[in-house]
Amino acid sequence: MTKNYDLSLVIPVYNEQDNLRKLMQEIDSALEPLNISYEVVFVDDGSKDASLAVLNEISTAYEAARYISFAENRGQSAAFCAGFDEARAPRVATMDADLQNDPADLPAMLSLYNEGYKMVIGWRGKRKDVWIKRVGSKFANAVRNKLTKESVKDTGCSLKIMDTETVCAIPRFNGMHRFLPTLMKMQGATVAETKVNHRERHEGESKYGTLDRAIAGGLDLLGVCWLQNRHFSYSVKERSSDKDNS
Ligand code: UDP
Ligand code: MG
Repeated sequence: MTKNYDLSLVIPVYNEQDNLRKLMQEIDSALEPLNISYEVVFVDDGSKDASLAVLNEISTAYEAARYISFAENRGQSAAFCAGFDEARAPRVATMDADLQNDPADLPAMLSLYNEGYKMVIGWRGKRKDVWIKRVGSKFANAVRNKLTKESVKDTGCSLKIMDTETVCAIPRFNGMHRFLPTLMKMQGATVAETKVNHRERHEGESKYGTLDRAIAGGLDLLGVCWLQNRHFSYSVKERSSDKDNS
């Protein structure tokens, strides 16, 4: 018999060998007291360090943990989507693997989600990144909000909870993880935002440079604006009664 899960946690991993054990301990401490049934799906995005070996060890040590591993690096968006496809719970939480997000934020986010939203997004109150990244992110959020007519505080924060069915129905492309609130709203999702903790990265390195992220994000933004303008929805007024084909 398949187990019924309340929450699937999806975590993209690219060269994070020294963060994974502590991350899993923190998730365990944050979620065990909730008495819910959860799974942690790590998606190894073709790591070149020992991340895969560590994930193997973690999936043996913790019943809730499992992983899939890509043959080669495909990017954070691809890793998220592969995790969404694997998820067995009706709601999926996402976070980074580098311990910058804090699993201790999950219980409060889950209570907010359970008030009836299809998406809860964290916004990083005090960002613990270098100044260029903080300024770049503020600017990117402002431009993104202006062009997509949104008011999302921090779409770059990976800490989110979403309705699994809805997130599996949104368009998929490289960089889509930076536009999840807009893409989810296009599918009719109701969205709430909440302040979350943010921490410095102590192990491993950031995978993004400021300029390459700005260029890729800018081009993606044009694509998302196009998608938004061309988006349609419909409601069915009536349908003929079901016919039996047998
Ligand atoms: N990541 C990934 N594939 C990539 C780049 C990043 O799975 O090609 C993961 C990475 O391991 C981390 C998360 O995505 O868990 C965010 O990456 P990072 O911390 O480097 O981004 P930053 O915090 O600097 O924006
Ligand atoms: Mg990070």
